[in-house]
Amino acid sequence: MSQDVQPDPSMIGGVPTPPFAFLPDPVALFQTRAKRLAFLAETSELAPYLRFLADLARLQARLCVTLPAVQPVSAARQKQAAQGEMPPIDRLSLVTDPALAQVLDALCEGATDLEMPAPARLALDAVRAASESDRHWLLTNILSDHVPEDSTAPHLFAAAAVQVHLARLSATLDADALVPVGTGVCPSCGGKPVTSSVMARQGIENIRYATCACCATQWNEVRVKCLCCGSTKGIGYRSVETTDATVKAEICRECKSWVKIFYLAKNPSLDPVADDIGSVGLDMLMGKTDYRRGGFNPYLIGY
Ligand SMILES: [Zn+2]
Ligand SMILES: [Zn+2]
Repeated sequence: MSQDVQPDPSMIGGVPTPPFAFLPDPVALFQTRAKRLAFLAETSELAPYLRFLADLARLQARLCVTLPAVQPVSAARQKQAAQGEMPPIDRLSLVTDPALAQVLDALCEGATDLEMPAPARLALDAVRAASESDRHWLLTNILSDHVPEDSTAPHLFAAAAVQVHLARLSATLDADALVPVGTGVCPSCGGKPVTSSVMARQGIENIRYATCACCATQWNEVRVKCLCCGSTKGIGYRSVETTDATVKAEICRECKSWVKIFYLAKNPSLDPVADDIGSVGLDMLMGKTDYRRGGFNPYLIGY
């Protein structure tokens, strides 16, 4: 904790500037997501899948408690990264990190007891039997925000392990020392967003934050801006509902991509990952256009 008596730099002209980034609280993150997925399962056509993902999120929360503590990112490393406008977490160096291998092992072990759709069960068995180099291939893809379309199910487990490890790592960072590293790029780990949310909480009302698909850091982005190419021109919105939509597709005519945007004032319970799956109807709608999905969500590929 800083004992500084300097004037608070977050107060400019009496109006607090919104924090640039919020770091995840890993246990709370996965518990909240589990509850939201279970709630969405009650009314969704994807109920069995959502119930499985809820159980998986509960397992992720448990692993955050039971696994050995992660090696924190050092203050020196974070300072050096900030000077170079780089994210302090080097994602690709994690592919061969024994700590991440341990998370994947523990996740696969814990997941064997869960009820799941048959394709997920087959994929789990395959990941459990996979060689080290095959596991590295899965982790490399997830850490590059890429899932080959013919191999989605095994990547689901690799993604769940990466989420646990990266959320725990980013939780060791100092949020105040993070700097913008590019539009639509996570300032903690350099990853892509899953969705973005227009906040409702006091102090950050109407401010938009993008959520990292892998480490769950939330960072401030301008309200109307393409998170794929950074354009502020040619932005439009599409939604399944014609009025009062809580989830919209922010579309960019410059690069022909779209990313979901959530409006928390209309529903404060929206979870950046769970409700991305819960709003799959919007993906179906956008699938009929020539716009390409920009948000990364390994749980949603194939829909
Ligand atoms: Zn991140
Ligand atoms: Zn764009």
